[in-house]
Amino acid sequence: MDISQDFFTTFYTCHRKAYLLKDQIQNSNGIQAEYKGFRLIAFADEEREENGQSTFILRRTSKNVRERHIIESSFLYFVLHLRGEDAQVKIEFLRGEKFVKPRDELISMMIDVMKETFENASPPKPSFGYECKECPFYKECLDLSQKEEDLSLINGVGEKRKKVLIKAGFKDVDSLSNANPYEIAKYVGISLDEANSIVKQAKSLKDHKPIMVKRVILPHSDHEYFFDVEKDDEDLYLFGLLVDDTYHHFMLSNENWNEWFDFIKMLSLYPDAPIYHYDRFDKDVMQKFGKISNTDLKFLLPRFVDLYSTIRNSVTMPVRFYSLKDVARNFGFNWRNKDFNGYNAMMALSKWRKERDYSAMQELLNYNEDDCRALKVLKDALASMKNG
Ligand code: SF4
Repeated sequence: MDISQDFFTTFYTCHRKAYLLKDQIQNSNGIQAEYKGFRLIAFADEEREENGQSTFILRRTSKNVRERHIIESSFLYFVLHLRGEDAQVKIEFLRGEKFVKPRDELISMMIDVMKETFENASPPKPSFGYECKECPFYKECLDLSQKEEDLSLINGVGEKRKKVLIKAGFKDVDSLSNANPYEIAKYVGISLDEANSIVKQAKSLKDHKPIMVKRVILPHSDHEYFFDVEKDDEDLYLFGLLVDDTYHHFMLSNENWNEWFDFIKMLSLYPDAPIYHYDRFDKDVMQKFGKISNTDLKFLLPRFVDLYSTIRNSVTMPVRFYSLKDVARNFGFNWRNKDFNGYNAMMALSKWRKERDYSAMQELLNYNEDDCRALKVLKDALASMKNG
């Protein structure tokens, strides 16, 4: 069996996903070595001499080195080592470069686990994590876990905690929803607040409804803005804004400032109206553009209301992840294209930058508009909870 660098990294991130994909592996070329009955295939973006030593470069477009990159480069190093090559591996990322410390033991151990996993007749159970949001098997995994009332459905319960809870007798969502938070705090070794949140999360899932934990505080206003940003893999941004039920969009980059000023003008139409968004990214991007363009945002930024923080502080939702998609869907909102996600949005914007692909752009605009409309649905739902 062939194990490519990418496939190995997928296995490291989720054993189940790799198991489900293992029969679709296609032969590929690269730097190869045989190991324990597998053919390992590694890749590098460049090979060059540095200080008299052969250096293999992995180039990645993220700002920082992620765990995924460390695993990819460790795998590459492992293969080079097996081939008897005295080489070093370096990751080049947007903010710099990093030499990788060889982790041969980890790679070798993971290959043993992989062998064992693939010998089983059925795939491992889902174990939810950040990467699930973009995974093609997400719905399938969610359905399976819901059917089995699996503890991994609970936000705040990872593999380690799940094992401890099962050992303590809390085998499913139902049993955890009736648990005493003091006991959970003691068994799992977490604070009482965290234990309370896990038990509430289980209750909310069991009853399929949100639980209000704190009064929702939202500003009063006759007008409101709903704001959502998409970014490509370089430095092009799409700003979406819903105001008075009309969607507007603005294309921004370091070279195009006209739309930035149109955007600011539109936000000044109702100078006291709140600007709702979800999580930090949108506000961070605003601040970045404010700084580069030397625009004074001190009257604008206090109007930003982060609905992610609002919901996390005030409501326990019957969802595994508190992404805008999961939360707004729970309040009945549906995106026009249910298969389009953040990654597709990034690629569509990138395609627009390179090829002026209008059909990709239209799909992206629909998605961005739906994000803005989902924010409105969420805000209205929170406001009605506030009013009882
Ligand atoms: S949804 Fe999550 S648990 Fe399921 S296969 Fe994908 S990454 Fe793994």
